[in-house]
Amino acid sequence: MQYRELAHVYEKIEATTKRLEMRSILVDLLRPLRGRELTCALYLSQGSLRPEYEGVELGVAESLARKAIAEATGTSAGAVGERTRTSGDLGTTAGELLRTTRRLEDTAPLELLEVYDALTGMAHATGAGSQETKVQILVDLLRRATPVEGKYLVRFVMGTLRVGVREMTILDALAAAFASPDKDARERIEAAFNLTSDLGLIAEKLASGGVASLASIRLEVGRPIRPMLAERAKSLEELLERMDGKAAFEYKYDGLRVQAHLAKDGSVRLFSRRLEEIGPQFPDLAKALPSAIRERPVILEGECVPFDRTTGAIRPFQDVATRRGRKHDLERALEEVPVVLFVFDVLLAGSESVYERPFPERRAILEKLVTPSERIRIAEEQIVTSVEEANDYFEEVVGQGAEGVMAKSLADGSRYHPGARGFWWIKYKRDYVTHLADSIDGVVVGAFYGRGRRAGAYGALLLAVYRPDKDRFETFCKVGSGFDDSALAELPKRLAPFRIDHAPPEVDTGLSPDQWFRPSVVLEVKGAELTVSPVHRAGIGAIRPDAGLALRFPRFTGRYRTDKSATQATTSAELVEMYRMQDRSGARTAAGEHRVRHKA
Ligand code: AMP
Repeated sequence: MQYRELAHVYEKIEATTKRLEMRSILVDLLRPLRGRELTCALYLSQGSLRPEYEGVELGVAESLARKAIAEATGTSAGAVGERTRTSGDLGTTAGELLRTTRRLEDTAPLELLEVYDALTGMAHATGAGSQETKVQILVDLLRRATPVEGKYLVRFVMGTLRVGVREMTILDALAAAFASPDKDARERIEAAFNLTSDLGLIAEKLASGGVASLASIRLEVGRPIRPMLAERAKSLEELLERMDGKAAFEYKYDGLRVQAHLAKDGSVRLFSRRLEEIGPQFPDLAKALPSAIRERPVILEGECVPFDRTTGAIRPFQDVATRRGRKHDLERALEEVPVVLFVFDVLLAGSESVYERPFPERRAILEKLVTPSERIRIAEEQIVTSVEEANDYFEEVVGQGAEGVMAKSLADGSRYHPGARGFWWIKYKRDYVTHLADSIDGVVVGAFYGRGRRAGAYGALLLAVYRPDKDRFETFCKVGSGFDDSALAELPKRLAPFRIDHAPPEVDTGLSPDQWFRPSVVLEVKGAELTVSPVHRAGIGAIRPDAGLALRFPRFTGRYRTDKSATQATTSAELVEMYRMQDRSGARTAAGEHRVRHKA
């Protein structure tokens, strides 16, 4: 297969706003492919060279890409920069320049695998002289590229490919291309993906052995599983009802979710909630884990929280966020922000896959496996069988500064459900009792220019929630408060990589911001209440036909959810659920009454 075919597929995908059309374009692309061509086409389309969790990044700086484009097209880097100021995107510039450059007559067309291997060579180039190597590889590719190929090659190496095909659409396409389009096949494919987080692996299995071959897929150390997610309840009564009157109440720690993989040889890999490898930022945890865990290999889940060295008290989440991306002064961060991992689940224990066992069995295994130490502890837990007990525990942990509790089902069906949100886990937070249920993690899809003091900068952002069944982003608010001057000043830089000059096809809104963004950056907002809105499209139709939900008086909490990808933001369905929860006085009085009783 030639790379040109893939580039044309990207063009077609970018031009469509319809998910079904996007799927059929993908099906046509994937169906004839096998082996490496299939996996490489898939990884490349996701803007990556390997499954996302491996984090193989090209990390080509803009200056370097400019230099390569200039050399390949016989212009100067300055001229490339100049043009990009008007085109807004270096990929577009590369395409334009290639269109006017005379190509050598006898250049052979770029083969897909050849491009993939060259890009892999770029990714592996390290150390002295690696920048020159990278430029040279890119120049060689661009010299043979058509304008369309050039556009996407440049976007790929800069990490701004963004053709907008997300995993759910790819899974749909895989089901249609290699299995039957029925619900059962689609569910099995998604389950296999949730277990492996590797679209290439799933595609290859499907293409060679059909859906049946997915049954042989196992949990493996080093390959992260998609995290199980929690539902909400509006009161402790409802929560206990959903759990048949009995549940394990755990302390809900407010930190960073960590999936820890310990191989047989004692090596440790740590993955964040969005399955990025975060071991390098937490060498202290990686060091503490082997001596605290009795058996190997093992896969554990826990929440990593910062603590105060002198008092031992848990510190705010923001402190641990400073660990991320601070490579150069990691030493200081290690000293200043010590962390502890509260483990709360076990998925693989000594080569036995245990994620399908009910939660009480997993908790028992966890308690046997872990010898608590200063850095590794087991999440606090209490079994509750009445609303009074539940409320007492809730009051106790909130009194200690926790944001709430995580209730876990003890029923036979309480296996770990990779990648799924369900009532086997229910979060119940302090916020639910006082004001609007929970904060919302929104995706930035647009910005409005500021006025007055904020002139020349962004004054407000347009936020959306994710709708998985349609694979779209639906807006729910325009947020301008909660940004202090420094947060405002750094917004343009933070959002620049995602700027596009038209409305992203996957976004639904009734507003027209001054600047659009590809959905990528996630941030946390709180607000007064959710209301039905004529302009926002979140959960459209769920409460009233043709109306979505909007958050009133939204306020940025100061917290960027860099641990979440766009599709891990709050969903439209969650917002609808939150709307329903706030609507009744039940949410407030249920806990309130008990609090009074508790005090008496
Ligand atoms: P939220 O981020 O508000 O949706 O809450 C779910 C998150 O709470 C999980 O993804 C974990 O990161 C975190 N968490 C804290 N304590 C626990 C616990 N004991 N069990 C499970 N998750 C927990």
